[in-house]
Amino acid sequence: MSARVLVVDDIEANRKLLHAKLSNEYFHVITAVDGVDAIERARAEEPDVILMDVMMPRMDGVEATRELKVDPRTEHIPVVMVTALNEREERLRGLGAGADDFLTKPVNDLLLLSRVRALTKYKLVADELRKREASGRRIGALDLNASARASEPARILVVDENERQAKRICKYLEGLHRPLSLGEATAMGIASSMVDVLIVSLENDQLDGLRLCAYMRSEEATRDLPIIVVAEPDDSERAVRALELGASDIVIKPIDAEELNARVKTQVRKKRYLDALRSRLDQSMELAVTDQLTGLHNRRYMRMQLEQFVRRAHMGDPQVSVLIVDLDFFKRINDIYGHNAGDEVLKEFSRRLRENIRPMDLACRYGGEEFVIVMPETRPGLAYSAAERLRKKVAETPFRLKSGEDLRVTMSGGISTSEEDEDIDHLLKRADDALYQAKSNGRNRIELHESAAARAGDHETQSEPSQDA
Ligand code: GH3
Ligand code: MG
Ligand code: MG
Repeated sequence: MSARVLVVDDIEANRKLLHAKLSNEYFHVITAVDGVDAIERARAEEPDVILMDVMMPRMDGVEATRELKVDPRTEHIPVVMVTALNEREERLRGLGAGADDFLTKPVNDLLLLSRVRALTKYKLVADELRKREASGRRIGALDLNASARASEPARILVVDENERQAKRICKYLEGLHRPLSLGEATAMGIASSMVDVLIVSLENDQLDGLRLCAYMRSEEATRDLPIIVVAEPDDSERAVRALELGASDIVIKPIDAEELNARVKTQVRKKRYLDALRSRLDQSMELAVTDQLTGLHNRRYMRMQLEQFVRRAHMGDPQVSVLIVDLDFFKRINDIYGHNAGDEVLKEFSRRLRENIRPMDLACRYGGEEFVIVMPETRPGLAYSAAERLRKKVAETPFRLKSGEDLRVTMSGGISTSEEDEDIDHLLKRADDALYQAKSNGRNRIELHESAAARAGDHETQSEPSQDA
């Protein structure tokens, strides 16, 4: 898939030049003529990377970057400032505004392409996480920005055999971050997740910086660890190689303290953004499929799974049966013992439910005091015996509350079994109808939906109605 690059420059010749270089490498190029235009295009076209000139009429590149970086719609798009060599102040302003990187004019082709590629890769990871999260979103927003903000000091590991230079880098970073020397780090293992950013010099005798980059990228634990490479000014070849191997950024000697800090800050922000997305994703995936009170699967997850089982049944797999359970007179429990006692009963019921179904069955809380158990490859007769077993487990042993009181709880259940070309809503509706029958026939009993019952026709399904009501 080719990445989309937005080139922002007020001078047409510059736009054309970058356009040509990037199109040559099969990037898809969009252009904008100033900051205002850039923001509009970024929102409308969602590019993967933005190359941003600084001096422009209407709104300059720094201002535009600042706006892009505070807008949730565009904050994740990497911005590369393109500045003239003597624009040190502009570069720092740009990095301060949240720019991810900068290139100096005239733009070195190799550096341009490898930077764009590196940033595209980061963007792809972030996009994938954002997409998965969007599709799984059910919970209120956790404050992503709060965790993504680089407020806490980061742990920076400096790998440089030149002790004086290593010390100088550490000194530059002190105050904002907690730099670690190589000695400390080897003691705790370089691959430790304790490190937020790695700074590696390419000018080492013993330790090959390029090899280290490649190694870090190949290890699961450090795959996303930001790496800043320190390179000699005349060694752009190895600097580019480092980027290709997965380094996140390059600092060219002599090291400028402010620039180094800005770059480290950017890497830390990126890492925390990905970390926050990832942990939020884990959380939301978990929340997306689980009912919080009972720990059973939730309705949404059950429907997704049932959909699959039914589809397979239509393709010739054995039928799937559905049991809907509703606790009897549950409102009374709440009324007499209180809502918390009601919750205790729901939890205890869920425990018994989990313990009394087969591993292949899927138990879920359908809502309130209603539960659905999906039984794949199960004929009505077998589903009925399973439901009866559960009904007895509930009715036979009272539920002990935390208060010490014993409660008699019963449940009613309705069963339906998938029929040819039946959708899940119809299948669930038939189980619900059977449940309604069970309620009107006196509760604490299981009913089969009649069409399934008719087809089953064996004595197993006609087993004795419950006596312990
Ligand atoms: P029936 O035998 O006809 O099912 O009677 P019922 O009282 O169980 O039926 P109804 O549907 O009228 O009442 C269900 C009650 O369940 C009402 C609601 O307050 C309660 N409920 C729903 N969700 C929860 C919950 O999460 N916790 C607690 N404690 N109660 C809940
Ligand atoms: Mg009920
Ligand atoms: Mg109910």
